[in-house]
Amino acid sequence: MEVAAPRFKTMIGVAQLITVLSSAVGVAIPLVLKQAIDGRQTTGFRMELALLVLFLVQAIMESTGSFLMARAGEAQVLATRSRITHHLLFANKSFFDHQVGDDLASHIVADTNTIREFLTQNVTLFVAGIVTIVGSVTALIILDWRLSLVMIAALPLAVLVITPISNVSEKYAKLMQDGVAQATSGLAESFRTIELVKANTAEATTNRRLDHNFKRLYRLSLRTDLMDAISSPTVLLLLFGAVAVIFLYGGQRVAAGTLSVGTLMSFLVYVFQLLNPLGGLSTFFASYARMKGATAKLNTLENVAVEDTGGDAQLTPGPLAFRDVTFSYDGQRPILNDVTLNIPLNKKVAIVGPSGGGKSTIVDLIERFYPVNTGTIAYDDRNVTAYNLTKWRQAFALVSQDNNIIAGTIRDNLTFGLERSVTDDALKTALNQAGLLAEVTAFPDGLNTDVGENGTLLSGGQKQRIQIARAYLKNARYIIFDEATANLDADAEHQVSVSLNQLLTNRTAIIVAHRLSTIVDADIIYFLENHHITGCGTHDQLMATHATYRRFVNEQIIHVQKQAKETP
Ligand code: ATP
Repeated sequence: MEVAAPRFKTMIGVAQLITVLSSAVGVAIPLVLKQAIDGRQTTGFRMELALLVLFLVQAIMESTGSFLMARAGEAQVLATRSRITHHLLFANKSFFDHQVGDDLASHIVADTNTIREFLTQNVTLFVAGIVTIVGSVTALIILDWRLSLVMIAALPLAVLVITPISNVSEKYAKLMQDGVAQATSGLAESFRTIELVKANTAEATTNRRLDHNFKRLYRLSLRTDLMDAISSPTVLLLLFGAVAVIFLYGGQRVAAGTLSVGTLMSFLVYVFQLLNPLGGLSTFFASYARMKGATAKLNTLENVAVEDTGGDAQLTPGPLAFRDVTFSYDGQRPILNDVTLNIPLNKKVAIVGPSGGGKSTIVDLIERFYPVNTGTIAYDDRNVTAYNLTKWRQAFALVSQDNNIIAGTIRDNLTFGLERSVTDDALKTALNQAGLLAEVTAFPDGLNTDVGENGTLLSGGQKQRIQIARAYLKNARYIIFDEATANLDADAEHQVSVSLNQLLTNRTAIIVAHRLSTIVDADIIYFLENHHITGCGTHDQLMATHATYRRFVNEQIIHVQKQAKETP
């Protein structure tokens, strides 16, 4: 990534030119001031008028330059944030498996801002500062080289004092940035997982962990405050020192008649004018280093591999099949080994087996979240990669209990991802088909009811039925039902299975099943254990031939009976 994209380069260039010109005008002002004071008798009020015009021109140029610069910077930030976000939304899912969402978000927001600050503030201050320093020092030497020598001798001393202070301040500012990011993401995580915190009575430990972050931030803030408290009086001291030297030495010269009052006054103005650019010089290099770091991080994000969008074969209804599919998430530990399964059109196919066996991984592969290592996933006898990825995912509706509800209203959730506008009547029909209309109508805000983060204001069964309604609206040909391991109560389970069965009529279903009720009436059941398919058939066939399946079912029955006994 270039620090500034070409179309912003011109905008930034124009803004910098105006700022530099305004600095040049600033350099001229003390010279005109000298003329106004020393040549009063010969020039009349012409110099005062010129001074007034110069002040006005400088003020106008400075505000125009800084606004143009800020505008270019903001436009660049907007473009970079949008570009990277767009890129990442199409990135391979495997990239996100190793990322903390909050950190990624903070990089996209904060790093772009670091680059903006560098471009709009530091570079401008630096360039304008160089013009002011070179211009002022030249003017000073021309005005009176002896007085200039006294001043220039004091300059290294000022830089020597100011630079370490501003370097330490920079260091703490960076640490503060990290500290704020850490404290913010810690807080966000704790509030997001508040149920986990409460259920594990982890309030006190969470509080201690968060307090630890706050105390670190407090210590860093104190150090930054200390540096701020030291730096302002130091700069003032240096300034008064310079003014005192000029007054003492210059005053003597004025008394002796070897220096004009006008020259002395313009010297003083130059001293004040030099202060800002000198400060700017010392912060420039630290901000350059920060910008480099931010650019490197954003570059890696921009180079993250994106998903293969597939070919453009016609997607007509057809059967889906896994043929000798082998897959591993990390290229080392195989999760699926030579898996072969057939999902005929309009049939209900269940995948069952021990926990961690790879059932949800099969769903991931059907959704094309990851490419297979060997073997093929075929649709209508062609490799799935022959079909356009977007159209492919539009043909599938995923119903699960986890991560499938967004913060927002019921309406937002139902229409999530739909490009067309949907009428309230269509939403209500979908809710009715999912058996949820009566409950939603009973909410005071109806379709506009806020569901909370991850749908915390809804029950588990309601969340699943919202997704079933979403599948109706999506009019998906294939339904993937990744059943939650957590049990719903009998009533909720009944409601979900009634609306699900209705949804599955005339549709193809792939069900990762845990409950006996879902398994029993599947057309084909695949038993997945130790990364292999070890059995396939109807429930009755597997009960007769597959010992592990039989044990699996018997355990389920015992579990259900136990639950029934425990429920009063
Ligand atoms: P359960 O019935 O408990 O939901 P499952 O049969 O659906 O289990 P999967 O979720 O497919 O099992 O997980 C199979 C294995 O793959 C597990 O060992 C898990 O640790 C691993 N795994 C799952 N997702 C990832 C991932 N994104 N990256 C690396 N490994 C993963």
